[in-house]
Amino acid sequence: MTAIPFNRSSLEGRELEYIFQTITIGQIAGDQTFSKKCHRMLEETLGVKKALVTTSCTHALEMSAMLLGIQPGDEVIVPSFTFVSTPNAFVLHGAKPVFCDVRPDTLNLDETKLEALITPQTKAIVPVHYAGVGCEMDAITEIAKRHGLAIIEDNAHGLFGKYRGRWLGTIGGLATQSFHETKNITCGEGGALLINDERYMERAEIIREKGTNRARFFRGQIDKYSWCDVGSSYVMSDVLAAFLFAQLDVWPFIQVKRQTLWMRYHHELRDWCQTNGVRQPIIPSHCEQAYHMYYLLLPSLDARTRLIAHLKSLGILAVFHYLPLHLSEYAQQWGGKAGDCPVTEDVSDRLLRLPFFNSMTPEIQGRIIEAIRGFKADV
Ligand SMILES: *Cc1c(COP(=O)(O)O)cnc(C)c1O
Repeated sequence: MTAIPFNRSSLEGRELEYIFQTITIGQIAGDQTFSKKCHRMLEETLGVKKALVTTSCTHALEMSAMLLGIQPGDEVIVPSFTFVSTPNAFVLHGAKPVFCDVRPDTLNLDETKLEALITPQTKAIVPVHYAGVGCEMDAITEIAKRHGLAIIEDNAHGLFGKYRGRWLGTIGGLATQSFHETKNITCGEGGALLINDERYMERAEIIREKGTNRARFFRGQIDKYSWCDVGSSYVMSDVLAAFLFAQLDVWPFIQVKRQTLWMRYHHELRDWCQTNGVRQPIIPSHCEQAYHMYYLLLPSLDARTRLIAHLKSLGILAVFHYLPLHLSEYAQQWGGKAGDCPVTEDVSDRLLRLPFFNSMTPEIQGRIIEAIRGFKADV
């Protein structure tokens, strides 16, 4: 019986052929043919003003912090249930992260708790579309407008998901994507910055190119390039962009595969969930999700621990997810304490992610479902 990993990378099309091309045509640095193809694809498919591939989503978030001019003393509101990069990119520039609890249904930033966290120091809100299900962007946008705050969508999970008919990543002034190996579409390590507010367009290119106007130089708009701003090295190699483009090129097929897997888990685990007091994901009817993950909310930490062990004994790797960021050791400097974000604290203990990857066969998924059905949560 072969072990079933939580995630496994796969070739989705012409990845190797395109990588070979970058080497034979001598374009392995960044911003060449394949990076441009990725930019155009994202811009045309999503309808964003500008897309720039980057070395990671973390780096696209750091670029956002620089574009907003984040400085020591500023505050940035993030969900307490997210990856560490969501706050860290802003903390790196001196901001204080303010943690907002999440909604019990979608596990997204709870927009009803947002306004109470805004102070004169608040500069931005960073909603995360958890599991690729849209946050309540109408309410968040309205609050941000009223207080003059920027919105950066951390859309690492949500590429090709929609909120009220609008693509995730096209609603905030800026949005960030991840192409890390655990995401729907990947090149191993990589990301993108999506720019919807055109005020950021020119400076984003400069920050991404080490603080120089090299991008304009390469387009022939100026005859030499120079140092004009702060910046760093956020350009993706075209070797990776070639891999990425091969996947972006077939995105509808990837999404259909993931939708099929997600639906099967959802239907075939329904009865078991009901008898065992396990909650399945909730997708609001106005959200088209991106099928990033399938999770279960067990009735208790103990039940989750036992289910993980049960699956492990059958060679299946299921994993928990984020620990509450406000309770982390590093966040103690801002006074985070138990009870600040009760929903996050509760779900973090009970959430379990099932193996979920593009190349999962029906047989493998059947084995996982059978294994779960063979477990009793003892409610
Ligand atoms: C994966 C992830 C990131 C970081 O992505 P990298 O490309 O690895 O930097 C940031 N935020 C969220 C919500 C993520 O899931």
